[in-house]
Amino acid sequence: MSGVILPGSLVNGQPATLGVMGGGQLGRMFVHAAQAMGYYTAVLDPDPASPAGRVSHHHIQTDYLDEQGLAQLMQRCAAITTEFENVPAPALFTLGAHRFVAPASDAVAIAQDRAAEKAHFVKCGVPVAPHAVIETEAQLAAVVDDTSAAPGRPKPASAPSGGSAVHAVTSVGADLFPGILKTARLGYDGKGQVRVKTRAELAAAWTELKQVPCVLEKMLPLKDECSVIVARSGTGEMVHFPVQRNLHRDGILAVTEVNPGVIDPALAQQAIEATKAIAEGLQYVGVLCVEFFILENHTLVVNEMAPRPHNSGHYSMDACDHSQFDLQVHTLAGLPLPQPRLHSPSIMLNLLGDIWLAYNGVPPWDKVLALPGTHLHLYGKLDAKPGRKMGHLNLTGATVGEVRATALAAAKILGIEPF
Ligand code: ADP
Ligand code: MG
Repeated sequence: MSGVILPGSLVNGQPATLGVMGGGQLGRMFVHAAQAMGYYTAVLDPDPASPAGRVSHHHIQTDYLDEQGLAQLMQRCAAITTEFENVPAPALFTLGAHRFVAPASDAVAIAQDRAAEKAHFVKCGVPVAPHAVIETEAQLAAVVDDTSAAPGRPKPASAPSGGSAVHAVTSVGADLFPGILKTARLGYDGKGQVRVKTRAELAAAWTELKQVPCVLEKMLPLKDECSVIVARSGTGEMVHFPVQRNLHRDGILAVTEVNPGVIDPALAQQAIEATKAIAEGLQYVGVLCVEFFILENHTLVVNEMAPRPHNSGHYSMDACDHSQFDLQVHTLAGLPLPQPRLHSPSIMLNLLGDIWLAYNGVPPWDKVLALPGTHLHLYGKLDAKPGRKMGHLNLTGATVGEVRATALAAAKILGIEPF
């Protein structure tokens, strides 16, 4: 790390400027947090209407791999972060040769690839779902279909039964059906995933996904989902946010709930330890989110990680004394890392474009904001589409019961299914 970048200071004769690759809502909230502390900001994103580009001091509108764009970003910025994991790792590598970049390109490259990511989890001793990497016809053919086995034939040896997670899995002999075929790269919000029950369906799904490298994962019996967000500094200091419980609908995060008892304390502690081991194993610098499944048999299995602040941590903007974006700024600027404190039970509702479409225009925010402890965050996106993340609503209250009641009242106004 090049040293501390003090807010409001001059660096090479320019106001201290923090840069971000990517101009989506996560970049926008990073920019807001950085600006609140007195930093100037620069965003690189090709979209002239990008949510972060619109609010940043500087917006460089080029492709992520454009040499001139990257040079301009470096010229402006003392340090650079990223806001979505699909920023090409080579671009971060180029920037990293000249500027402090956090997270580093090698950590981002692992998080960009489900196969590499799972291998990293296994290396850190954290249980993953039984899975097989499928990159070739031969690997596809090696997947055993238990359902086509002759009646009475014993199950293949070492087949993990539904619900058990294993540390290392090969396709050979493992019963992975019913399963989910996921593209190794570029998937998000349940995109690039096909559910398969048989080998024939698997073959068809792989064709549908254009035979790109994939991971076939066994469908696990989920009781719950949760995630943990940590921030780790260049000197190896690490702090964590409380464990939050996540409800997904159609593969998209719908509701996050956080309060001291929302996840069984023993499991929560395990999830925190696992997340810290994963961050430590990457020598990670920045904000990292790790998502977990809680199985019906009460065991914890890691799902995936995001090398950046995460949708499930948005409650921290209103329910913690430091948000995940504040800590992203701290890690990038080399500032000390405060342990964030949850000062209020909280629920976050994701606001998808469907709400705008159902209202045929702007939802009645005045009615929602009349409820106590409601904090609206919209991302400045003008065109609503089904499933598009337009904003989120954070709810805070004195008690868990109060927050739940308000969240359900807000959900009712917005046509969000109760939870
Ligand atoms: P994305 O990158 O799109 O978030 P995920 O792998 O996290 O993809 O999958 C999205 C959601 O689908 C998960 O949060 C979970 O609800 C469900 N899901 C994914 N994998 C499994 C699995 N192996 N077993 C059961 N449910 C799963
Ligand atoms: Mg996910």
